Amino acid sequence: MTGWTRRELGIGAAALGSALGPARARARPRVVVIGGGIGGATAAKYLAAGDALDVTLVEPKPRYATCVFSNLYLAGLWSLESLTHGYGTLARRYGVAVVEDAAAAIDPGIRRVRLTGGASLTYDRLVVAPGIAFRFGEIDGYDEAATESMPHAWSAGAQTRLLRARLEAMEDGGVLVIVAPPEPSRCPPGPYERASLAAYYFKQFKPRSKIIILDAKDSFYQQEVFREGWDRHYPGMIEWLPARSTGGVTAVDVPAGLVRTAQGTVRADIANVIPRQTAGALAHAAGLVDAGGWCPVDPETFESRLRPGIHVVGDAARAGDMPKSAFCANAQAKACACAILTALTGARPSRPHLLGTFYTFLAGNDAMGDAAVFTPADGTIRLSGAFLTGTGEQSETRRRNARAAVGWYDAFTRDVFG
Ligand SMILES: Cc1cc2nc3c(=O)[nH]c(=O)nc-3n(C[C@H](O)[C@H](O)[C@H](O)COP(=O)(O)OP(=O)(O)OC[C@H]3O[C@@H](n4cnc5c(N)ncnc54)[C@H](O)[C@@H]3O)c2cc1C
Repeated sequence: MTGWTRRELGIGAAALGSALGPARARARPRVVVIGGGIGGATAAKYLAAGDALDVTLVEPKPRYATCVFSNLYLAGLWSLESLTHGYGTLARRYGVAVVEDAAAAIDPGIRRVRLTGGASLTYDRLVVAPGIAFRFGEIDGYDEAATESMPHAWSAGAQTRLLRARLEAMEDGGVLVIVAPPEPSRCPPGPYERASLAAYYFKQFKPRSKIIILDAKDSFYQQEVFREGWDRHYPGMIEWLPARSTGGVTAVDVPAGLVRTAQGTVRADIANVIPRQTAGALAHAAGLVDAGGWCPVDPETFESRLRPGIHVVGDAARAGDMPKSAFCANAQAKACACAILTALTGARPSRPHLLGTFYTFLAGNDAMGDAAVFTPADGTIRLSGAFLTGTGEQSETRRRNARAAVGWYDAFTRDVFG
């Protein structure tokens, strides 16, 4: 061990403290972060960066695959490996203690997190960022087991790989059915970007194939821009059916590959069913969730309105106008880290900057480049400014966006994972 510091080994005092027992003096405030996705990893990094806190990150997976750009993987344009990130830099450079385990329960009374492996961690502040869970049961026949045959691919990794394998195996002339979820959901443009990039793949390799989107909604984000792009790149290939025309998806027949709506049945060679979503299971178990299924938070500090001392960031949070997206999870996590540093160390408070850029692909060389600014106001978070792609944009602008998106992904994931 000679020559290594605790920071280089990635062992925070919080982890050492729990290993050595409560008798040892606690020099610095402890923060535990649950969930090493976009929100949790960003929070852990920015909490640890000032070297004033002991920060422990709890995440069961050794590596995290981003949903961001996973539709490019489905199109065969990116590898899954290039979307996968580890926690080594957070540990080595920032001194975050990374614990490879899942949080099983939170006891807010004694400020303790129990881990599935049996250990427990105490905290002064807790950040919960478990992402989403699915509301199985709303579509008859679609349960956890059905995701193996009809993947949602709405959390990246095994599910995305499965959907890609299905796309590769499908015969030319096959039908991909995408069941788009009701709002609020993770990544509002995601299902339509997925349809675009699946069509991009089909156009090259299986040009007689079709995509049907059975939507739980009657309209969707940037609908006109998507429709214009579909007409330009994939005429006749993508059919979007709003809830008003189908009555919504009611059931699936997994062995027969059928998707049933209130108005009729569609045969699918591949069914990509994205169910209604809610906050991750741990948030429910910890009493952080309201009747609508999401975690209400203070718009400046992201402290839970239901459990003081616990902050919620990312998709699990009910964050006003902010969409459930990686750039929002990242912005929320930074604001939350600032608020916790202020509360625990007396650091100067600063107003949160909730802004971000996001790219949405219509084809390999055609992307929308949008940006949005959000401001805490009237007890919630309001959209205060936006730059949104419009219809009729020049192809060269879209090509430039597609190139810029690659640089954005690199910079963004460095910001999150160090
Ligand atoms: C197809 C698709 C494309 C997308 N594209 C974009 C895009 O281009 N731009 C964009 O901004 N957003 C995009 N998103 C949205 C983005 O992926 C999410 O908004 C973002 O991942 C939310 O971050 P999060 O930290 O809340 O959740 P996640 O990133 O899902 O992380 C949650 C983490 O918590 C862990 N966890 C859960 N329970 C526990 C527990 N009990 N103990 C410990 N750990 C736990 C999980 O293992 C996971 O690692 C896309 C989403 C999809 C599905």
